[in-house]
Amino acid sequence: MPEMPEVQAHAERLTEAFAGATLDRFRPLAFTALKTATPAPEAAAGHPLLEVGRRGKHLLLRFEPVTFVVHLMQGGRLKPDDKQAARPRGGQARWYFADGRALLLTEAGTERRAGVWVVAGEPDHQEPLADLGPEAAGIDRDTLAALLPEHGMRLHGWLRDQRIVAGLGRRLANEICHRARLSPFAATGKLDDEAVDRLHAAIGACIEESLAYERTRADMSSSKDRPGAVHHRDGEPCPVCGDTVRAVEYRSYTVNYCPTCQTEGRVLAGNTTSKFLN
Ligand SMILES: [Zn+2]
Repeated sequence: MPEMPEVQAHAERLTEAFAGATLDRFRPLAFTALKTATPAPEAAAGHPLLEVGRRGKHLLLRFEPVTFVVHLMQGGRLKPDDKQAARPRGGQARWYFADGRALLLTEAGTERRAGVWVVAGEPDHQEPLADLGPEAAGIDRDTLAALLPEHGMRLHGWLRDQRIVAGLGRRLANEICHRARLSPFAATGKLDDEAVDRLHAAIGACIEESLAYERTRADMSSSKDRPGAVHHRDGEPCPVCGDTVRAVEYRSYTVNYCPTCQTEGRVLAGNTTSKFLN
């Protein structure tokens, strides 16, 4: 799933290409795509796109009367649409601009979880953004230190919980734990000051590296291209210490870690007992 760096760089690309273009009309292409009944998307017609912003993993297409909040989920993409086919593959919704261009939201696969919310006013305190925690990017150390024991859980799950901190997903959670030399299963309520320092530095560094990479690209990366030390690298040598990167498999995701760097050499149980670790 695209996480903060991918969504942020994409928002910047879309702003560069489309800011100032006047919206002609918005059309859902699948009946599940538009998640809100009011305000009507037509409210934005005739208005220029101010910018494409980001909150958590959501793109925000800001027009003066309303903002379109777009969540790509796993397989969604929002791209310039030169063909403007009548029935584009995976088509979810399309924004037509007065200059003849269009933006197309597609979703690969059959889950149909990507969506568009239309909101009037500042979107931050409205669905689907109302429950998001502070941005992981730029979070200050004291805020982080307070949130860790407030939501006591395993670190990997904590990092991925958008209600606690927003913008991180499975890949960055793996990379941040590794960078901080912390077990993905460490209890967040028991991290000492030095561990919080390392975690804070790791969050900043991992986001910054991914964002720098993503900004070199003309389009959003796919997950296999993204930089990383441990994510989806089980069986490969850890780039820090040379130990073998390990995996704990869950039904819908994998936790990757280096035993030497993160768990004092202990190899954690695989999926047979993993339900006790999460
Ligand atoms: Zn290592």
